[in-house]
Amino acid sequence: MNIDDATTQVSTLTAGPAWHWRNRFHALGAEFHTELPPQPLPSPHWVAHSDSCAELLGLPADWLTRADWNALAVFSGNALWPGMRPLASVYSGHQFGVWAGQLGDGRALSLGEIDTPNGPQELQLKGAGLTPYSRMGDGRAVLRSSIREFLCSEAMYGLGIPTTRALCITGSPMPVLRETLETAAVVTRVAPSFIRFGHFEHFSQRAEPDALQRLADFVIEHHYPECRDAPQPYVALLTEVARRTAELMAQWQAVGFCHGVMNTDNMSILGLTIDYGPFGFLDGYDPAHICNHTDRQGRYAYASQPNVGFWNLHALAQGLMPLIGNDHTDAALAALEAYKQIYTDAMRLRLRRKCGFTTARKDDAGLIDALLKQMADEQTDHTLLFRRLATFSTAEGADNSAVMGLFNDPQFRERWAAAYTERLRAEHSDDAQRATAMNRVNPSVVLRNHLAEAAIRQAQAGDFSEVQRLLKVLQNPFDERHDTSADAGFPPAWAQHIEVSCSS
Ligand code: AMP
Ligand code: MG
Repeated sequence: MNIDDATTQVSTLTAGPAWHWRNRFHALGAEFHTELPPQPLPSPHWVAHSDSCAELLGLPADWLTRADWNALAVFSGNALWPGMRPLASVYSGHQFGVWAGQLGDGRALSLGEIDTPNGPQELQLKGAGLTPYSRMGDGRAVLRSSIREFLCSEAMYGLGIPTTRALCITGSPMPVLRETLETAAVVTRVAPSFIRFGHFEHFSQRAEPDALQRLADFVIEHHYPECRDAPQPYVALLTEVARRTAELMAQWQAVGFCHGVMNTDNMSILGLTIDYGPFGFLDGYDPAHICNHTDRQGRYAYASQPNVGFWNLHALAQGLMPLIGNDHTDAALAALEAYKQIYTDAMRLRLRRKCGFTTARKDDAGLIDALLKQMADEQTDHTLLFRRLATFSTAEGADNSAVMGLFNDPQFRERWAAAYTERLRAEHSDDAQRATAMNRVNPSVVLRNHLAEAAIRQAQAGDFSEVQRLLKVLQNPFDERHDTSADAGFPPAWAQHIEVSCSS
């Protein structure tokens, strides 16, 4: 189907939510996007929805079922609500360290930007058909990858990690060819902005300084107003994006999240986690873990992510240089350099909290490093270890086997438990208080591959109940009621054989 065919098929409904459409990105200029309707998906059906995301948007409780709104048609790309003005945006980027040239929304369509009780938010359909930026792709997303993106977006939000959100998934029997024949689906994503590092690189590489400046001024005005009055607003912007990215990397590392495709076109200018593809959470703690089967060199291995964030910020800085100017190169370099300390401090703080320390002491790094080293040597389960660490007791003769029994080495168990006890006693740590605080930072449940896989297999067989059940669990990942459930347990043996690739 070509894009023109679709134009005639998408109707605008007469009723929809009483949203005020702002569409500020639309107003940025023709160089930034192409307006075009979604391509309809045959026989759509609901797969899942997030009440929490609906609440973010101020949608009423009956948004899914109101006949006159026909939300199913809207979120499958078959109809528009009044005020929606779908567009695909253009960006470029570095993929796996190599300049890839023009990319763009190849299968995503922004429906517009609305005012919500929580500030302006953009709505975007992912998998809504071909765009001028689809290149060799088919403009579609499959049910499998859509469930992964939907669940992980809401899971990250539940973990308190900055992320794009997901409102719902619709599906269709339409066949889509990946490694095997799958079926089509559409995820509706929500974020204050979907602008990426790659948007800046695009206009910079094309030597379009006017458009580049409009983009940077737009981002500053709407998302970083504190940079507006800085002596060098674009250096201030870079500084702030670097800070947010450093904090984001620390948050990813602390929960064992691997993004899998940290290309510069998948880096949010707002410091959000964006574009969930072959991501994964660590099971056993392996710093060299590569979650993306396609990433054979391990460029985006778990332990490399903070460095890749730094590399990507250099690409952003390069993109901003026409605005920053050669006279301020040193200031730009200093903005980048600050990333390292911000990341290191953020990570140290998170690790201290994961261990239940309320103060910083000079030997903490040694104690924490020894723990991580043993975890790496034994591939100890990352989530279970930190969750169970909350059960550790400093009482004389306490039985700490629930957590220390996760290690095989008896000498390490004894040595580290003694050092940890001493460290906790040094700050007069109260076991019960510490456990409560630790259970707020160390999740019981993360979206391990096998949990997603089980939900996907059921959904592919037509039963979406596991997607919706798992969503509820992931939205409250710190809830102690999960601790005894299979969701919080060790991965089954078959989980080791799950291969996740870029194909989505
Ligand atoms: P990703 O690595 O998934 O973020 O995608 C990189 C680029 O390829 C982006 O420009 C996507 O829009 C585009 N892309 C990925 N899959 C498809 C597809 N099935 N159809 C069209 N474009 C796609
Ligand atoms: Mg992408």
